[in-house]
Amino acid sequence: MDTAFLINKLAEAHDLSDEELKDLIEDKTSNAPLAAAADKVRREVYGDEVFLRGLIEFTNFCKNDCYYCGIRCSNRQAERYRLTPEQILACCKEGYALGYRTFVLQGGEDPYFTDERVCEVVSAITKSFPDCAVTLSIGEKSFESYKAFRDAGARRYLLRHETADLAHYGKLHPPALSAENRQRCLFDLKKLGYQVGSGFMVGSPYQTTENIVSDIRFLQRLDPDMIGIGPFITHKQTPFADFESGSLELTLRLLSILRLMFPHVLLPATTALGTISPVGRELGLKAGANVIMPNLSPVNVRELYQLYDNKICLGEEAAQCRGCLERRVESVGYRIVTDVGDVKRQDKTNG
Ligand code: SAH
Repeated sequence: MDTAFLINKLAEAHDLSDEELKDLIEDKTSNAPLAAAADKVRREVYGDEVFLRGLIEFTNFCKNDCYYCGIRCSNRQAERYRLTPEQILACCKEGYALGYRTFVLQGGEDPYFTDERVCEVVSAITKSFPDCAVTLSIGEKSFESYKAFRDAGARRYLLRHETADLAHYGKLHPPALSAENRQRCLFDLKKLGYQVGSGFMVGSPYQTTENIVSDIRFLQRLDPDMIGIGPFITHKQTPFADFESGSLELTLRLLSILRLMFPHVLLPATTALGTISPVGRELGLKAGANVIMPNLSPVNVRELYQLYDNKICLGEEAAQCRGCLERRVESVGYRIVTDVGDVKRQDKTNG
């Protein structure tokens, strides 16, 4: 296989055949040429800018039972918490002072947070911080619920499709959850005018290269504004306790492939990437990522929101974290900006 040929073709055509994609994903030569090509494209579109998203993990109650996730409802050892609207607003206030202009409210699917309660929190944030974007990441809901959140002021929604392959989806989730419904949610969110983020875990149990090719094809159909990928990381209190975590190298390869296929997409160097390697996020940026999503949750609840083991930054105050990140980002030649950080699309504007 001619790696250089595939990289050039991907950079020019933003696509490859299934067979070529599979070869490039499985290529065992150095990641360096692929990362360099991705970084070139990233700099053409986004320069050296890195956007921040302040992540507020506001509840770890969840009615779902995803086999990989530490806050699944069957994990009786997980100590549960939820933040009050006042606590959530305090996180935003702290984040705003540190230059954050996007707040991502993420949580388990917590029935306590009815549509009405979610809308109240979203409206309160948009009222207090009119120059900020509110992003929700609270799982699968009806079209009507998504519409209500949008009307309350939410502009963005993160919902990873997890895996596009129906059989693989069935191996990661209990029968109550389906890939079809998750995908329906994503298309509903697009119809409602959200900026949408999707994505998948790298190296999840039973994942094959063919599955990853299907994930990429699904993303081409969905055409999301953000693609979140990170390694699967084992959580001991789940049915997948004995599976190995996903690899750094494969995650980096995929970040670069995604940057070349979707030049304008927002691509986070995820916390999971920073967890499997002390310089994972820096390497992610060098491989084509342009977003970091630091934790703005109160320090006393951070260790309770453990989707996977050994999550980083559990003890750091937001301000400390901001300084640390700045140094990390600059160490690899990029720059954090105070910006709402909208996607730079050529084909349409986003609001
Ligand atoms: N309840 C929300 C938020 C889920 S948590 C929702 O349904 O979208 C956000 C993401 O963390 C998930 O989409 C999943 O891809 C990832 N995640 C969960 N468990 C993980 C694990 N063990 N390792 C790595 N990533 C994990």
